[in-house]
Amino acid sequence: MNFSEYPIESLMYITNRPEIVFTHGKGSWLYDNEGKRYLDFIQGWAVNSLGHCNEGMIEAMEKQARLLINPSPAFYNEPMAKLAGLLTEHSCFDKVFFANSGAEANEGAIKLARKWGKKFRDGAYEIITFDHSFHGRTLATMSASGKPGWDTIYAPQVPGFPKADLNDIASVEKLITGKTVAVMLEPIQGEGGVIPATREFMQELRALTKKHGILLIVDEVQSGCGRAGTLFAYELSGIEPDIMTLGKGIGGGVPLAALLAKKEVTVFEAGDQGGTYNGNPLMTAAGYSVISQLVAPGFLEGVRARGQYLREKLLELSAERGFQGERGEGLLRALLLGKDIGPEIVEKARVMQPDGLLLNAARPNLLRFMPALNVTNEEIDQMMAMLRTILDSL
Ligand SMILES: *Cc1c(COP(=O)(O)O)cnc(C)c1O
Repeated sequence: MNFSEYPIESLMYITNRPEIVFTHGKGSWLYDNEGKRYLDFIQGWAVNSLGHCNEGMIEAMEKQARLLINPSPAFYNEPMAKLAGLLTEHSCFDKVFFANSGAEANEGAIKLARKWGKKFRDGAYEIITFDHSFHGRTLATMSASGKPGWDTIYAPQVPGFPKADLNDIASVEKLITGKTVAVMLEPIQGEGGVIPATREFMQELRALTKKHGILLIVDEVQSGCGRAGTLFAYELSGIEPDIMTLGKGIGGGVPLAALLAKKEVTVFEAGDQGGTYNGNPLMTAAGYSVISQLVAPGFLEGVRARGQYLREKLLELSAERGFQGERGEGLLRALLLGKDIGPEIVEKARVMQPDGLLLNAARPNLLRFMPALNVTNEEIDQMMAMLRTILDSL
């Protein structure tokens, strides 16, 4: 079909989209309605952990679709239980609640912390979050986010989210009062521009929250599920948070998210939390396939090796072009351009011929790379060659 034949005018406007329609994908490649292919280093916004149309996921979903799609969240089902078991086996958490999006999982974390505060901290409800953080697009998670401008678009905000500065423990301590119930952060700020919390800061936060008897919540919607080279990014700092949320990569592309907690913190009572699609077997079967592949022997070592390879290539390019280096963990990395040429590179990469390249500029002065976790070194080389061609044309 030609672009003009798609009824796109029926879609509600929310952002500027290019005039192409994607029709299929495989691994690191995505194809449009005109048959052009694109090397994909966005991967559905870091959601396709195993690339486009992973065989294991397809098999799991095909099989599950024929067995049972949704018995209702009021009943147990097999994939829901199996995935919860896999997650508690491979993390420091004891209990799992499934949701459908990262924002919804974070809403669950906020509710769990507030309920815990009601029960154990005299009604404390404030959750300290961070400047430039991103926690989702519901009203509460927008209020928790430290994204500039988000405090005014849909004002008034949900109260109770004072903001501290990442990697500055004094800025957190200053905000702790009798009303504080938790500190919530992304171990690596993703949308903010791939800014890792330092190992030292994570350890100081854990000590500080313990000292004040409040909770530590990690939003691993972007950094979790193998993205940082370990199954969860909190492992990098050797600490154990009280609550963690997952999204994006856990579903490998389908809507699935999770709220995990230590058993001492799990204070929901009957009726406190729920949702029509939560833990449905079709999505949790997909998630079980994803997590099983991530924890298979050698897989995460491979992610670390490919992350290191990408890092070296980005550093070479940075030195060659006078950029300002790179940062990140595993296969969530950013190239620091030192000037606001990110959006122009992204645009030129997509329209490049014969093959396009999909990149993201989380901020105008950097490029963010979030390829499939099973991307190959050859594909990384291809991406770097394409990027050099674009830089030459600027
Ligand atoms: C993407 C993201 C979210 C929101 O997830 P949705 O599935 O879009 O609701 C929350 N937190 C972080 C860290 C994210 O990167």
